Amino acid sequence: MMQNRAVKIQKEYRKLYLRKLNTFEADYDSILNKYLGKVRKIVFDHSDSSGNLQRSSQKTVKRSLRILDNWLRIETEDIISRYILEAIKISLLGQVKVLNWYYKYRGKGKNNLPLIKNKYNKERIMEISEKVLNKKWSDGLKISDRLDKLSNSNNKKINNILSKNINENDTAVSLLHDVSHRIHNPVGSSYKFRVLRIARTETNSAYQLIQKLIASDADLVKGIKWNLSPSHPNYEHYEVCERYAQEDHAGLGAGVYKPENLPDVPHPECLCYLIFLF
Ligand SMILES: [Zn+2]
Repeated sequence: MMQNRAVKIQKEYRKLYLRKLNTFEADYDSILNKYLGKVRKIVFDHSDSSGNLQRSSQKTVKRSLRILDNWLRIETEDIISRYILEAIKISLLGQVKVLNWYYKYRGKGKNNLPLIKNKYNKERIMEISEKVLNKKWSDGLKISDRLDKLSNSNNKKINNILSKNINENDTAVSLLHDVSHRIHNPVGSSYKFRVLRIARTETNSAYQLIQKLIASDADLVKGIKWNLSPSHPNYEHYEVCERYAQEDHAGLGAGVYKPENLPDVPHPECLCYLIFLF
């Protein structure tokens, strides 16, 4: 029963994080709408009386769109950084709360919670957030590299849409429709889909990093259990997260790691969650 309360606290904070993550899309939509509004203005400023983009303006429009894509690139990194910081804060609060509960009701031995609270001050939180932002994944890329790539490919695709529109003598309205579809389309490889994917992956990675750090600092945490997310798909093969969740890694039971040996989030969009064991 008592152990259940500790699990419940951790799940409550996990839920808070997921709820926060859910607001990302709406927040990002307002940035994308601003972006599309600016594209609209550029295109209409350079359209002729029959509603087509002027061929002679092609270069100028492309240059303006390049600047606009740089603006979007900066806004995107900014919002992802903010969500990473939020994930860190929620995770930190959750772990401190569960440790507090444990020391209060079950605590044996040395209570090092005051030390932990002291250690994870503002500066430390900023340091961890920098660390997450600079983390290179197995493909060698960190967030800013990924956003650069995404921004460049987006700019290229939009330029292609523009050239095609001019060559086919199509209307500016049709051009804006195609650009909007490229940005917003919720499935497949749309620009927005890719940004959402980065946000989910990086915030979860930040959340788990805090859990690993706190568990390593708290004497009472004996292990961290890796749990599959309820949305984990059924694979034909033995998938990496299933291995993490099911194998006995430290003689402490299925899926349990010693805090210092906890592996990183193994793949994009992994939403597996961790629970401290005392
Ligand atoms: Zn996973």
